[in-house]
Amino acid sequence: MNLKSISTKRPVLIALAMLVVATLSAFLLFRNSSQEHATYRQDNADRAKKAPGQVATTETTNDTTAQKTDSPRIEFYTSTMMPGEVSQTPRKDSMGMEMVPVYESEGSMLELSEHARAMASVETAPVQRRKMSREIRVVGKVQYNETALANITTRVEGYVERLFVDYTGIEVKPGDHLVEIYSPDLLVAQQELLVALESQRNPTVVESAKRKLLLWGLTQEQVDDLVRDKKVSDRITLYSPIQGTVTEKMVVQKAMVKPGEMLYRLANLESVWVYLDIYEYELPWVQYGQMVEIKSEALPGQSFTGRVWFISPVLNEETRTVKVLLNINNTEKKLKPGMYVSAVIRAELLADGKPAPTGVEGQWSCPMHPLVIQPQAGQCPVCKMTLVQIPGTPTGAKLDGEHLLLAVPVSAVLDSGVRKLVYVEKAQGQFLPVEIVTGPRTDDSYPVLSGLNEGEKVAVRGNFLLDSQLQIRGLPSLFYKEGQAAVAGHQHAGASAPATPPANGAKPQGHDQHKH
Ligand SMILES: [Zn+2]
Repeated sequence: MNLKSISTKRPVLIALAMLVVATLSAFLLFRNSSQEHATYRQDNADRAKKAPGQVATTETTNDTTAQKTDSPRIEFYTSTMMPGEVSQTPRKDSMGMEMVPVYESEGSMLELSEHARAMASVETAPVQRRKMSREIRVVGKVQYNETALANITTRVEGYVERLFVDYTGIEVKPGDHLVEIYSPDLLVAQQELLVALESQRNPTVVESAKRKLLLWGLTQEQVDDLVRDKKVSDRITLYSPIQGTVTEKMVVQKAMVKPGEMLYRLANLESVWVYLDIYEYELPWVQYGQMVEIKSEALPGQSFTGRVWFISPVLNEETRTVKVLLNINNTEKKLKPGMYVSAVIRAELLADGKPAPTGVEGQWSCPMHPLVIQPQAGQCPVCKMTLVQIPGTPTGAKLDGEHLLLAVPVSAVLDSGVRKLVYVEKAQGQFLPVEIVTGPRTDDSYPVLSGLNEGEKVAVRGNFLLDSQLQIRGLPSLFYKEGQAAVAGHQHAGASAPATPPANGAKPQGHDQHKH
């Protein structure tokens, strides 16, 4: 349990660790290429402006405008070590490192040379349409089918005279004798009935004498025999009410038993229940009627299937799990109560990321006996209650095409917890961060709800590096939707600015002030 709860936090930790590593390596990796880049661009900029110190301040000459197409203007300089530290003039940052220029037209598009791309190990994969399913692996425990249990208790006081079933594990059928009890009280009660019959006194006395014997566990047939044959017996035999296995035996030869004492516990093992503990975050994919495959280490190479027929309405607050119940056919009695099993629930997904119908939708079931599933309305064969229809669209309505979902690999998605970003390769070596909306994560991918098209190539490796490079340059990146230039702009203007990106989508004001 604990292991699993820790593992849910792991992706976040890994993501943070990767980001730190990526930021550092991005600095080392892109430092050279940025500087080369800078030199090349700086040449152009120098041609446009006499003094480098005046770049992007008050001067916006015609030259710059003329050269805009092939050599973009430097918008500002940014520190490679201290994200958010920017300057309008080339200078060293607070750590003494040369700042690198950020060009106006760069936007959020990141251009990588073949060399840089290889160094960053950037790999891409196309966004594809495919079938998606969510697999939940969980452990469970075999339990008795609670509806097929019987306790054998005695209703009379007496002594165990004969034990027909004298060890646990015996299979019994309905009507099989289990134990014979010698009971003096029973003898007295039978004689009372005979006396009442002979004296012909009061029919109510006869009736109450008969009822006493019935209440003590005699069958109507035995009472009738007694009335007819007048043969009293000081013995009473207890019979099995169900077909099943003796799972517990509390009685021994010659023991004294008292009314209400339990002698045997019987269970029918031809069907067993399996309880699965499903974590709350897995619940969206578990639904009534789903087929589940289970395996036990005690039965190598064998698997069993059963339907989810009950999902507990309450959550266990200690384990953060919900009990889900399967009913498994066990006519060969291979599954034994108490066994641990591993289960796999496989939910096929629809386009919106929700699980596909299980096939029982639209059929009829009993609220008391969820195992009863019928195609037509009617009465429960067990308890005669009126059947209710299972909600949902009948399976016949679903189309195969609906199951092909636009899938993006999990490794392509940078998740800040608030938004998800992928890096799309728009042209060879040109990466653009794109915010996407996804459905819930499946095994290795997310269903894309918006933001991507089929066939687009996304970075599945090196994307943290790409993102940190944008972050270093103060451009919009995973954690800074608007980039950090806005914050830095205020700093440059002399105002104390918070170290957070602006909440609204407004363009940074600081630079505009300088430009005009
Ligand atoms: Zn019923």
